[in-house]
Amino acid sequence: MALPLLNTPEFETIVPSSKQRIKFRPFLVKEEKVLFMALQGGDTREMTNAVQNIIGACVLSDNFDPSKLAMYDIEYLFLKLRGKSVGEQIDLRLRHSDPESECKHRTDISIDIDEIEIKFPEDYTDKIQLTDNVGIQMKHPGIQHSALTEGELDFDSVLELISECVVCIYDHDNVYDSFTSDEIKQFIEGLNQQQFGKIQKFFTDIPKLSHKIAWKCPKCGEEDSVVVEGLNSFFT
Ligand SMILES: [Zn+2]
Repeated sequence: MALPLLNTPEFETIVPSSKQRIKFRPFLVKEEKVLFMALQGGDTREMTNAVQNIIGACVLSDNFDPSKLAMYDIEYLFLKLRGKSVGEQIDLRLRHSDPESECKHRTDISIDIDEIEIKFPEDYTDKIQLTDNVGIQMKHPGIQHSALTEGELDFDSVLELISECVVCIYDHDNVYDSFTSDEIKQFIEGLNQQQFGKIQKFFTDIPKLSHKIAWKCPKCGEEDSVVVEGLNSFFT
Protein backbone atom coordinates (compact mmCIF):
# COMPACT_ATOMS: atom_id res chain seq x y z
CA MET A 1 0.00 0.00 0.00
CA ALA A 2 1.31 3.44 -0.87
CA LEU A 3 2.35 5.49 2.13
CA PRO A 4 0.44 8.69 2.90
CA LEU A 5 1.92 11.94 1.63
CA LEU A 6 2.96 14.60 4.09
CA ASN A 7 1.65 18.10 3.60
CA THR A 8 4.30 20.79 3.67
CA PRO A 9 3.31 24.36 4.52
CA GLU A 10 3.68 27.10 1.90
CA PHE A 11 4.96 30.63 2.41
CA GLU A 12 5.27 33.72 0.25
CA THR A 13 8.05 36.17 -0.32
CA ILE A 14 9.23 38.64 -2.95
CA VAL A 15 12.36 38.27 -5.10
CA PRO A 16 14.27 41.51 -4.40
CA SER A 17 15.66 42.14 -7.90
CA SER A 18 12.55 41.36 -9.95
CA LYS A 19 9.90 42.06 -7.27
CA GLN A 20 8.31 38.77 -8.33
CA ARG A 21 6.01 37.32 -5.65
CA ILE A 22 6.77 33.63 -5.12
CA LYS A 23 5.52 30.72 -3.05
CA PHE A 24 7.99 28.40 -1.36
CA ARG A 25 8.11 25.47 1.01
CA PRO A 26 10.72 24.80 3.74
CA PHE A 27 13.81 22.62 3.15
CA LEU A 28 13.21 18.92 3.52
CA VAL A 29 15.66 16.38 4.88
CA LYS A 30 16.97 15.59 1.38
CA GLU A 31 17.86 19.26 0.85
CA GLU A 32 19.43 19.67 4.29
CA LYS A 33 21.67 16.77 3.33
CA VAL A 34 22.83 18.48 0.11
CA LEU A 35 23.46 21.71 1.97
CA PHE A 36 25.32 19.97 4.76
CA MET A 37 27.61 18.21 2.30
CA ALA A 38 28.32 21.45 0.44
CA LEU A 39 29.07 23.25 3.71
CA GLN A 40 31.51 20.51 4.68
CA GLY A 41 33.28 20.81 1.36
CA GLY A 42 34.05 24.44 2.25
CA ASP A 43 34.13 25.56 -1.39
CA THR A 44 32.23 28.83 -1.78
CA ARG A 45 31.12 28.22 -5.33
CA GLU A 46 29.95 24.70 -4.54
CA MET A 47 28.02 26.04 -1.59
CA THR A 48 26.35 28.81 -3.55
CA ASN A 49 25.47 26.28 -6.24
CA ALA A 50 23.89 24.02 -3.66
CA VAL A 51 21.95 26.96 -2.28
CA GLN A 52 20.73 27.94 -5.75
CA ASN A 53 19.59 24.36 -6.42
CA ILE A 54 17.76 24.18 -3.12
CA ILE A 55 16.02 27.47 -3.85
CA GLY A 56 14.98 26.07 -7.23
CA ALA A 57 13.54 22.97 -5.55
CA CYS A 58 11.73 24.82 -2.76
CA VAL A 59 10.13 27.59 -4.83
CA LEU A 60 6.75 26.35 -6.01
CA SER A 61 5.82 29.14 -8.44
CA ASP A 62 5.83 27.99 -12.08
CA ASN A 63 7.32 31.04 -13.75
CA PHE A 64 10.35 31.15 -11.47
CA ASP A 65 13.84 30.73 -12.96
CA PRO A 66 16.64 30.36 -10.37
CA SER A 67 19.30 31.01 -13.02
CA LYS A 68 18.01 34.60 -13.34
CA LEU A 69 18.66 35.40 -9.68
CA ALA A 70 21.19 38.02 -8.65
CA MET A 71 23.64 36.97 -5.94
CA TYR A 72 21.78 39.05 -3.36
CA ASP A 73 18.48 37.35 -4.34
CA ILE A 74 20.09 34.01 -3.55
CA GLU A 75 21.31 35.26 -0.18
CA TYR A 76 17.92 36.76 0.64
CA LEU A 77 15.85 33.75 -0.44
CA PHE A 78 18.20 31.42 1.41
CA LEU A 79 17.66 33.40 4.60
CA LYS A 80 13.87 33.33 4.17
CA LEU A 81 13.95 29.60 3.46
CA ARG A 82 16.18 28.94 6.41
CA GLY A 83 13.83 30.98 8.57
CA LYS A 84 10.90 28.75 7.72
CA SER A 85 12.96 25.54 7.79
CA VAL A 86 15.34 25.86 10.73
CA GLY A 87 14.11 28.83 12.77
CA GLU A 88 13.30 32.51 12.41
CA GLN A 89 15.98 33.59 14.81
CA ILE A 90 19.71 34.13 14.33
CA ASP A 91 21.85 34.44 17.44
CA LEU A 92 24.88 36.68 17.31
CA ARG A 93 27.45 37.58 19.94
CA LEU A 94 28.64 41.12 19.27
CA ARG A 95 31.53 43.08 20.70
CA HIS A 96 31.56 46.88 20.76
CA SER A 97 31.74 48.50 17.33
CA ASP A 98 34.80 50.50 18.37
CA PRO A 99 37.71 48.04 18.45
CA GLU A 100 39.54 50.41 20.84
CA SER A 101 36.72 50.23 23.39
CA GLU A 102 37.91 49.33 26.89
CA CYS A 103 34.89 47.13 27.46
CA LYS A 104 35.52 43.77 25.79
CA HIS A 105 32.13 42.33 26.67
CA ARG A 106 30.31 40.47 23.93
CA THR A 107 26.56 40.88 24.05
CA ASP A 108 24.21 38.11 22.96
CA ILE A 109 21.70 39.38 20.43
CA SER A 110 18.95 37.60 18.55
CA ILE A 111 17.69 38.93 15.27
CA ASP A 112 14.51 37.97 13.54
CA ILE A 113 15.13 36.77 9.98
CA ASP A 114 11.95 38.52 8.83
CA GLU A 115 13.49 41.87 9.72
CA ILE A 116 16.48 41.41 7.43
CA GLU A 117 15.97 43.06 4.07
CA ILE A 118 17.92 43.86 0.93
CA LYS A 119 18.95 47.47 1.05
CA PHE A 120 18.88 49.27 -2.31
CA PRO A 121 20.83 52.51 -2.78
CA GLU A 122 18.52 55.55 -2.58
CA ASP A 123 18.90 56.62 -6.20
CA TYR A 124 18.74 53.03 -7.49
CA THR A 125 17.69 52.41 -11.07
CA ASP A 126 18.46 49.62 -13.52
CA LYS A 127 17.88 51.91 -16.52
CA ILE A 128 20.88 54.10 -17.20
CA GLN A 129 20.40 57.03 -19.53
CA LEU A 130 23.55 57.41 -21.66
CA THR A 131 22.48 60.26 -23.96
CA ASP A 132 19.20 62.14 -24.40
CA ASN A 133 18.10 59.43 -26.76
CA VAL A 134 19.90 56.24 -25.78
CA GLY A 135 19.79 54.24 -22.56
CA ILE A 136 20.84 50.84 -21.31
CA GLN A 137 19.05 48.48 -18.96
CA MET A 138 21.28 46.39 -16.69
CA LYS A 139 20.89 43.50 -14.27
CA HIS A 140 23.12 42.50 -11.37
CA PRO A 141 25.53 39.55 -11.59
CA GLY A 142 24.27 36.11 -10.59
CA ILE A 143 25.98 32.95 -9.50
CA GLN A 144 27.02 32.11 -13.07
CA HIS A 145 29.17 35.25 -13.07
CA SER A 146 31.04 34.47 -9.87
CA ALA A 147 34.18 33.46 -11.77
CA LEU A 148 34.18 36.95 -13.32
CA THR A 149 33.79 38.81 -10.04
CA GLU A 150 36.48 37.08 -8.02
CA GLY A 151 39.86 38.65 -7.30
CA GLU A 152 41.55 41.43 -9.25
CA LEU A 153 39.62 42.32 -12.37
CA ASP A 154 41.46 43.28 -15.54
CA PHE A 155 39.74 45.35 -18.21
CA ASP A 156 38.72 42.30 -20.27
CA SER A 157 36.97 40.67 -17.31
CA VAL A 158 35.20 43.93 -16.49
CA LEU A 159 34.05 44.22 -20.09
CA GLU A 160 32.93 40.59 -20.11
CA LEU A 161 30.99 41.02 -16.86
CA ILE A 162 29.27 44.21 -18.03
CA SER A 163 28.30 42.69 -21.35
CA GLU A 164 26.84 39.64 -19.57
CA CYS A 165 24.70 41.94 -17.44
CA VAL A 166 23.15 44.03 -20.22
CA VAL A 167 19.41 43.40 -20.51
CA CYS A 168 18.79 45.72 -23.44
CA ILE A 169 19.71 48.99 -25.13
CA TYR A 170 16.87 51.35 -25.93
CA ASP A 171 16.16 54.64 -27.66
CA HIS A 172 12.95 56.58 -28.26
CA ASP A 173 11.86 54.24 -31.03
CA ASN A 174 13.21 50.78 -30.26
CA VAL A 175 14.32 48.28 -27.67
CA TYR A 176 17.40 46.30 -28.77
CA ASP A 177 17.49 43.06 -26.80
CA SER A 178 19.03 40.76 -29.33
CA PHE A 179 22.75 41.20 -29.84
CA THR A 180 25.95 39.18 -29.81
CA SER A 181 28.54 39.39 -27.07
CA ASP A 182 30.94 41.14 -29.49
CA GLU A 183 28.35 43.73 -30.49
CA ILE A 184 27.65 44.64 -26.91
CA LYS A 185 31.35 44.81 -26.06
CA GLN A 186 31.93 47.19 -28.97
CA PHE A 187 29.03 49.29 -27.76
CA ILE A 188 30.53 49.49 -24.24
CA GLU A 189 33.99 50.30 -25.62
CA GLY A 190 32.43 53.17 -27.56
CA LEU A 191 31.16 54.92 -24.39
CA ASN A 192 32.88 58.03 -23.07
CA GLN A 193 34.30 58.16 -19.52
CA GLN A 194 31.21 59.75 -18.03
CA GLN A 195 28.84 57.21 -19.56
CA PHE A 196 31.10 54.34 -18.53
CA GLY A 197 31.20 55.80 -15.01
CA LYS A 198 27.43 55.50 -14.76
CA ILE A 199 27.64 51.82 -15.59
CA GLN A 200 30.46 51.27 -13.11
CA LYS A 201 28.31 52.91 -10.45
CA PHE A 202 25.59 50.35 -11.10
CA PHE A 203 28.12 47.64 -10.15
CA THR A 204 29.60 49.38 -7.12
CA ASP A 205 26.11 50.14 -5.76
CA ILE A 206 24.94 46.52 -5.76
CA PRO A 207 22.15 46.07 -3.19
CA LYS A 208 23.02 43.90 -0.20
CA LEU A 209 21.56 42.08 2.73
CA SER A 210 21.76 44.60 5.48
CA HIS A 211 20.46 44.91 9.00
CA LYS A 212 21.15 47.53 11.64
CA ILE A 213 21.43 46.16 15.14
CA ALA A 214 21.33 48.44 18.17
CA TRP A 215 21.88 47.31 21.75
CA LYS A 216 22.87 48.41 25.19
CA CYS A 217 25.86 46.61 26.66
CA PRO A 218 24.80 44.98 29.95
CA LYS A 219 28.35 45.27 31.31
CA CYS A 220 29.27 48.94 30.76
CA GLY A 221 25.83 50.36 29.94
CA GLU A 222 27.00 51.98 26.69
CA GLU A 223 24.63 52.01 23.73
CA ASP A 224 26.08 50.71 20.51
CA SER A 225 25.01 49.75 17.01
CA VAL A 226 26.41 47.97 13.99
CA VAL A 227 25.24 47.34 10.45
CA VAL A 228 25.56 43.67 9.54
CA GLU A 229 25.91 43.04 5.80
CA GLY A 230 26.19 39.96 3.60
CA LEU A 231 25.06 36.40 4.24
CA ASN A 232 28.33 35.25 5.87
CA SER A 233 28.22 37.89 8.57
CA PHE A 234 24.89 36.55 9.81
CA PHE A 235 26.39 33.12 10.38
CA THR A 236 29.72 33.83 12.03
ZN1 LIG B 1 30.33 47.23 27.11
